[in-house]
Amino acid sequence: MVDEQLRARGIHDRHVLRIMEAMPRHLFVDDTLAARAYSDHALPIGDEQTISQPYMVALMTQALDLTGNEKVLEIGTGSGYQTAILAELAERVFTIERIPAIAAAARERLTALGYTNVVFRCADGTLGWREMAPFDRILITAGAPRMPAFLEEQLRPGGIAVVPVGESENQSLVKATRTEDGLAQRVLCGCTFVPLIGREGWASGNVG
Ligand code: SAM
Repeated sequence: MVDEQLRARGIHDRHVLRIMEAMPRHLFVDDTLAARAYSDHALPIGDEQTISQPYMVALMTQALDLTGNEKVLEIGTGSGYQTAILAELAERVFTIERIPAIAAAARERLTALGYTNVVFRCADGTLGWREMAPFDRILITAGAPRMPAFLEEQLRPGGIAVVPVGESENQSLVKATRTEDGLAQRVLCGCTFVPLIGREGWASGNVG
């Protein structure tokens, strides 16, 4: 997976490559999907949600430029796979998932794996996590209709956010850096994520 899907496509951050080589991705999917855990695809995790494609996880993580000292907010815990990678590469991770069964399974999985630097919340993450702000990094792992307004308020100056933004079926992966003038944005690539549903996202009955 790491050689063919990540290195060959330009993922070069050695910390990201090392952690993804070591992370047991098969433990983040149902047993029936374990044989496909290292394939080049997103896979279902229930409730119409997915564990993201390994390449997309690597690209987003690399774009966050983590040094090990950061306080990170992740919106969309999903299986907890991306959360575990962030927990390895940053100081602390605050992660929010809106679907209770998915949030509970991820918490149980990461606790069993021994992660002690992750704080879990089950809620609508489209408003961020004001009580815990500011954050050095913010990662949104579901497709937002627009850049969520909370980013400017909850991202520390100089901080980086990575967000898929666009239509419900296809988005642009945007890297935003908070400057004195607001968010400086750059598109990294096209992508397709499940929708970010909530007050500042898509309405659940109104996707597509
Ligand atoms: N990175 C995850 C992984 O490695 O398994 C995959 C995340 S999945 C593509 C997107 C997740 O975002 C889903 O679990 C979905 O329920 C969640 N989500 C969607 N809207 C949300 C919101 N407003 N707040 C929190 N989580 C949300």
